[in-house]
Amino acid sequence: MADAVFTRSSATPVKVETAAPVARIAPEGGAKLMDVMGGAARHEIRVHEHGFIALIDAMPRLVPEGQTADMAIVQAARVSYGQGTKRVSEDRGLIRYLLRHRHTTPFEMVEFKFHCAMPIFIARQWIRHRTASVNEYSGRYSVMPDRFYRPSLESVRAQSVTNRQGGEEPINLETAQQFLDYLSRAEALYNEYTRLNEQGVARELARTGLPVSLYTEWYWKCDLHNILRFLSLRMDAHAQKEIRDYAEAMCRLIEPIVPITIEAFRDYELESMRLTRLEIEALREGRARIASDNRREQAEWEAKRAALGLDATRDPRP
Ligand SMILES: Cc1cc2nc3c(=O)[nH]c(=O)nc-3n(C[C@H](O)[C@H](O)[C@H](O)COP(=O)(O)OP(=O)(O)OC[C@H]3O[C@@H](n4cnc5c(N)ncnc54)[C@H](O)[C@@H]3O)c2cc1C
Repeated sequence: MADAVFTRSSATPVKVETAAPVARIAPEGGAKLMDVMGGAARHEIRVHEHGFIALIDAMPRLVPEGQTADMAIVQAARVSYGQGTKRVSEDRGLIRYLLRHRHTTPFEMVEFKFHCAMPIFIARQWIRHRTASVNEYSGRYSVMPDRFYRPSLESVRAQSVTNRQGGEEPINLETAQQFLDYLSRAEALYNEYTRLNEQGVARELARTGLPVSLYTEWYWKCDLHNILRFLSLRMDAHAQKEIRDYAEAMCRLIEPIVPITIEAFRDYELESMRLTRLEIEALREGRARIASDNRREQAEWEAKRAALGLDATRDPRP
């Protein structure tokens, strides 16, 4: 069948083939499809006093009954063999193999979209993960809501003496109270912000005096491969506690939807350990120290030895 169409350059009709009809093909074996979010509009976890992370969509959203969204990873990986999903045990083995061997692109076939509210100082760390698509609340077009992050008195942390990225130990209560008073003074700037807005100062300028403890919101969409990268960096003990809380909540939200992937991620990434060449040499030669005079590297090796259950005190060599 051919239709007459006109090109831009000529009024003479050109004969072209019409597009083939769309074939609507039912799932293999007539399987019933189910919603990975169970029909919910959002799966939400509250984080701190004013924050939240909510899963609002997933791809695939519909999967054959009895399967999880992990199936999209398997489907992509098996495309080269011309085979679809096999038995669940084989699918699990394949996903674990892909993750172990960093065959990453099949994990990009799964995507998640989140609605998040977090303090600006956390958003600044989060936004560094460039592979996500982000749409943020605009302080130019709208008035910033009156919500600020403040830890409880008991959870104000002291600066770590060993780690520049932040400590875990609480500071004495008197200093903690001084810190909270300082936050209160910063929060009080919100009244100035409102007053200057009302006096006609542009919102895009009026907001510039607000503290980074103020909350912002965004939609954040990312594929599973890059989400795992985000989780691996931000669930790590070196990440700031506040963003770790969001990362852990994100992991809890996606775990029921891609359980096989998250299990493999914990086994091969999150709770695994990488050894450097110097560390492997020390292990092979039974040395407690690595051949480096870098103090931080030695300390990292000691932490790994402790995690591996190697007792440094019984090692006779320096
Ligand atoms: C504990 C911790 C401390 C940190 N401290 C600091 C700090 O002091 N200062 C600071 O500035 N940052 C800091 N960061 C941020 C860090 O340097 C990274 O920017 C952030 O973790 C994002 O990582 P990423 O680039 O791997 O992620 P993504 O941006 O999501 O990128 C994922 C991967 O995609 C690829 N990619 C993405 N964009 C590009 C591109 N344009 N070109 C080429 N490849 C690309 C890369 O392979 C990249 O690794 C810190 C992060 C952590 C976890």
